[in-house]
Amino acid sequence: MTEPFAAVDVIRTKRDGATLSDEQIDWVIDAYTRGVVADEQMSALAMAILLNGMSQHEIARWTTAMIDSGRRLDFGSLPRPTVDKHSTGGVGDKITLPLAPLAAACGAAVPQLSGRGLGHTGGTLDKLESISGWQASLSTDQVRAQLGDVGAVICAAGDDLAPADRKLYALRDVTGTVESIPLIASSIMSKKIAEGTSALVLDVKVGSGAFMKDAATARSLAETMVSLGSDAGLTTVALLTDMSTPLGLTAGNALEVAESVEVLAGGGPPDVVELTLALAREMVDAAGVTDVDPADRLADGSAMDSWRRMIAAQGGDPDADLPTARETDVVPVPADGVLLALDALAVGIAAWRLGAGRSRKEDAVSAGAGVVMHAKPGDAVRAGEPLLTLHADQPARFEAARAALADAVVVTPPGSRPPDRSLVLDRVVPG
Ligand code: URA
Repeated sequence: MTEPFAAVDVIRTKRDGATLSDEQIDWVIDAYTRGVVADEQMSALAMAILLNGMSQHEIARWTTAMIDSGRRLDFGSLPRPTVDKHSTGGVGDKITLPLAPLAAACGAAVPQLSGRGLGHTGGTLDKLESISGWQASLSTDQVRAQLGDVGAVICAAGDDLAPADRKLYALRDVTGTVESIPLIASSIMSKKIAEGTSALVLDVKVGSGAFMKDAATARSLAETMVSLGSDAGLTTVALLTDMSTPLGLTAGNALEVAESVEVLAGGGPPDVVELTLALAREMVDAAGVTDVDPADRLADGSAMDSWRRMIAAQGGDPDADLPTARETDVVPVPADGVLLALDALAVGIAAWRLGAGRSRKEDAVSAGAGVVMHAKPGDAVRAGEPLLTLHADQPARFEAARAALADAVVVTPPGSRPPDRSLVLDRVVPG
């Protein structure tokens, strides 16, 4: 086949700060997926995009080209409106687990096609795989049947969902080209649009444990993604939420499942409940479901019923004991006073080093490993009391986890008042 462009000319266009044409974008994504554009050429182009940016039109075309590299699912024939949530990733971010069944209990259908965790933020599939028997891989027919019956599916995205993004994301990971708003936005939105949801709520995290460390960059990512979604015909809204400290009191796979079940049972940490309800309200709104308050569905047990059915439909036993790590190690409070900060990134790295996360995508994760927190910022604490309990299968992991936590904790003198923190920082809607 004769190629209409040379990759080097496409690279030079972006290197010199010019705009890529629609034809160049369509070709380069397709040719990269076919293996005609080599990894080193795509790396150079990704770096030129990271340095010189892209217009909103280029980002939208790039996103469409990545969607068209695979299959676009269609759940339009379901009797319930579809809506999904995507989080840009944070420490202790288990919100999808209670949220998907809660939205289903409110009358929506949630087709959540997820990935596994890489680095310090955990993956939803890794968390659910700590439940005995639970299967992440489903055929499209099984997804459709479960959406109709239970209303919520959390499963692995098939290889044919935006395959260009799968290849490009792996390349960006090793070439220092992840941190580009056009590339992050197109990567996330190509998968969410291809997944076939008609509405989408984005949880864009801000803070040390997030991709985006400051609110201005997070807002710009949120605005880019909201425009991509609404231009593609999805009702799309984003919340900017705090990720300076972990969500809830646990970071680690089975530990986070247990905490999510507490939330579904009507308890759980207040911040996890608050964010679950804030996102659920956005989801039912975006799906056009009226006259339902998610708080009622949580309180009356119907979200828990949906959870149990969702887990059982994928072979899991919702009543099985969750795995626990073989060893624990306690990190004490360093001084009397008020816990001012418990840094999200440090806790995420500690959980990862304890075995909860992976460094390479082939690595296995430990279901029981992770960190349990005994206090949250703002709490009064006493020297010597347990602050964190580290869980690992091998005691040799504790030293590296403790090293990650060395500067994570700030305690101010007794009686001091920490600044008020809001969990939901902002809301972004189509402009
Ligand atoms: N998650 C994705 O799916 N893609 C990115 O580029 C970053 C986070």
